Amino acid sequence: MSLKVGDTGRITIAGAGLAGTLLAVLLSRKGFGVDLFERNPDPREDAAPGGRSINLALAERGRNALNLAGLLEQVDAFTIPMRGRMLHDTEGQLTLQPYGKDESEVIWSTHRARLNITMLDAAEASGKIRCYFDHLLSDVDWAAQSLSFSRADGATHQHQFEVLIGADGGGSAVRQAMASVADLGISEEMLGHGYLELSIPANESGDFQMDPHALHIWPRGGYMLIALPNSGGSFTVTLFLPNEADAGEGDLGEGGPSFGQLTDWPRQKQFMQDQFPDAMPLLAGLEADFRDHPVGLLGTIRCRKWFYRDQAVLLGDAAHAVVPFHGQGMNAAFEDCVEFINCLENTGLNWAEVFERYQERRIDDANAIADMALENYAIMRESVRDPRFLLMKKLEHELERRHPQRFIGRYALVMFHTLPYAQVYQRGLQQAIILDRLLEGARSLEQVDFELADRLVVEQLQKIPGLP
Ligand code: FAD
Repeated sequence: MSLKVGDTGRITIAGAGLAGTLLAVLLSRKGFGVDLFERNPDPREDAAPGGRSINLALAERGRNALNLAGLLEQVDAFTIPMRGRMLHDTEGQLTLQPYGKDESEVIWSTHRARLNITMLDAAEASGKIRCYFDHLLSDVDWAAQSLSFSRADGATHQHQFEVLIGADGGGSAVRQAMASVADLGISEEMLGHGYLELSIPANESGDFQMDPHALHIWPRGGYMLIALPNSGGSFTVTLFLPNEADAGEGDLGEGGPSFGQLTDWPRQKQFMQDQFPDAMPLLAGLEADFRDHPVGLLGTIRCRKWFYRDQAVLLGDAAHAVVPFHGQGMNAAFEDCVEFINCLENTGLNWAEVFERYQERRIDDANAIADMALENYAIMRESVRDPRFLLMKKLEHELERRHPQRFIGRYALVMFHTLPYAQVYQRGLQQAIILDRLLEGARSLEQVDFELADRLVVEQLQKIPGLP
């Protein structure tokens, strides 16, 4: 490794969340020392506050990164495979829509805090990483290369840095400090919909009250409820709803349900009972969850520039926060970590060149997953109920069976593969044209012209790079 980190030989990371901790582990494997600062207390001593995406869907990109860090086996011990979407209609009827072409293609429900703790344990075990909890980054002095941290007891701490990595999430203090000295071209686009976290506990025998091997969705057009399993028998449930009645995307109409209208328990209860009747008996502590959990805001943050000179760089949500509807924010953040490490492999570079190279390789991908995540909200809350969508999924699987080197549906490319997101997006556009043409007038797979399908796929789609 020819890159030097000044006199200390150490890299500073702000944020010991998902990306910051994984990056620390990967950097330590490359021989770097790391100082890792986190505003919250050590999660191993202090349980994380409820109400913020307790569990997460882990997909191939995230698994690939954990594997590189040597942590996949440990993480697999507490993940639960989900083989498809289990749709709940208003009558309580259930329909399973498989995610993949076969049972090997699943996504994994994983526990945020346990994942973080597994990575923190690995970070400390490396002997190269110093963790500083209860350290809120409050100021960056770029000229003096000095960081100021505030502690809960009012104390402050100063820290000299050589190289600073901002992995401090969507509200990144590092990003704000960089923006005060450079034009990062930041855009923030709020969704107008928020989320509230609810829960379904295990039953008295400790068992799941619904099928644990599915991501449950109650799609209701303008809004939805979803539930992901936790090892231990419970489900974490999330209600996604417009913040205000007119905050939808045109399809809710004036006065549609919104968090703004659900101001008291009778209204909250009535809404849940009307819309999600089969979930109601399972949602223990619903009144308390409505009362105590904050409504989380959702939005997309993009930057045109992710680094400042040779001093600092952004990674994960700090660089590109996306809405959660493709279950890819963490996966993308983990992929950033891998790409950042890959950029260090080139000897003879200085830090500014490493940062620039990393940005060049990732920024189009970050924008592509941001767009796909927004598009997937409409798919989850609405399209999944449409017979044409179901037929399209069947056709995608059939085309993949016939042309495994050339055709893989866009959702599968995002979730089960590591083809860069920007390439997935482009391929998705090409494939959509083919799918539309083949589905013209068709109501079942039998009515699809497969001679034409074979010709279009072979003529119009290049082989997908990187497949075995
Ligand atoms: P974070 O995980 O937010 O970590 C940032 C860390 O920095 C935190 O520990 C924070 O305390 C710390 N910090 C912040 N400010 C400071 C400061 N000033 N000083 C010191 N420390 C600071 N992604 C998926 O891949 N799959 C999913 O299923 C999924 N579901 C989601 C559901 C919801 C409702 C939400 C909101 C998000 C979901 N995501 C999902 C996205 C995922 O949570 C994020 O993309 C991921 O957490 C990003 O990791 P990060 O390390 O960049 O940021």
